[in-house]
Amino acid sequence: MKIAFVGIGLIGGSLAITLKENGFASEIIGVDIHQENLDKAIRRRIIDRDATLQQALQEADIIVLSTPVDAMLQLLPEILDQVDQQIVIDVGSTKVQLLEKVKDHPKRGRYVATHPMAGTEHSGPEAAIPNLFDYKCTVICDAELSDKDALELVQKMYESIPMGIVHLDSTSHDVHTAYVSHISHISSFALALTVLAKEEDENRIFELASGGFSSTVRLAKSSPDMWIPIFRQNRDNVLDVLDEHINQLARFRSLLIKKDFEKFYSLIQESNKIRKILS
Ligand code: NAP
Repeated sequence: MKIAFVGIGLIGGSLAITLKENGFASEIIGVDIHQENLDKAIRRRIIDRDATLQQALQEADIIVLSTPVDAMLQLLPEILDQVDQQIVIDVGSTKVQLLEKVKDHPKRGRYVATHPMAGTEHSGPEAAIPNLFDYKCTVICDAELSDKDALELVQKMYESIPMGIVHLDSTSHDVHTAYVSHISHISSFALALTVLAKEEDENRIFELASGGFSSTVRLAKSSPDMWIPIFRQNRDNVLDVLDEHINQLARFRSLLIKKDFEKFYSLIQESNKIRKILS
């Protein structure tokens, strides 16, 4: 199976490494906006060779769209215009706008919308790693709109990693990812800005940062090139959960002002319920 990745960064690169290693892909073709990324990917043996988008479309059995989500809005219809029996998938973090864009495309059936739920705060081909997706889950959206053979092959591809598969409609996908993924990034960006604003001595941050601080601001190292398009596309859902987050912060603030540590204690206890859900 020849697989072409359009956008050979963290997610495309990590998927490419995994599918080549486990034998699902016989050849990996890389397409990217910057030749430098392709050169790095060849040096790191993430891809077997680079190609133009047109060459890749002629040669690959599966085309994986792994660019930031804004570029996908333009690339997906262009790619579907040119496919025959090949299968096209995306790995983007938002789905409603992308699926709307191709809902009436005559080749809509050849496309399967997916979101492998794994990542790190790093980006680019240098960030690609094996095993990133092991035993995590992939969301497949609006599966009934994909051709049966395309859907089956894509499910087989993710199961080969191995990953679990969750089916959602695109609207629910964007709501739930706003809750469990997008808000935690805003929270981490805001925490990093808070500490940078209050602690003028950067050496102190470095010296005193313990595991707790490092793990809560880890996501603040993420690239704005990847995240701004996500916030643009999922703005309404993110605003909804951000309002709730601000309410929660205000509750803690008000309890501190009132010195109501009993209530503060019970709020922390309530938040500890997350331990049971995630363990
Ligand atoms: P990334 O590391 O920045 O990789 C994206 C790659 O696409 C880069 O090499 C980028 O090049 C290239 N690119 C940008 N525009 C392009 C275009 N028009 N044509 C071809 N290549 C283009 O980002 P990523 O973290 O892998 O994210 C890729 C996708 O996966 C995104 O849609 C994201 O929403 C989704 N996703 C991300 C995560 C995560 O945690 N990071 C998790 C799940 C899904 P330059 O950087 O040189 O511009």
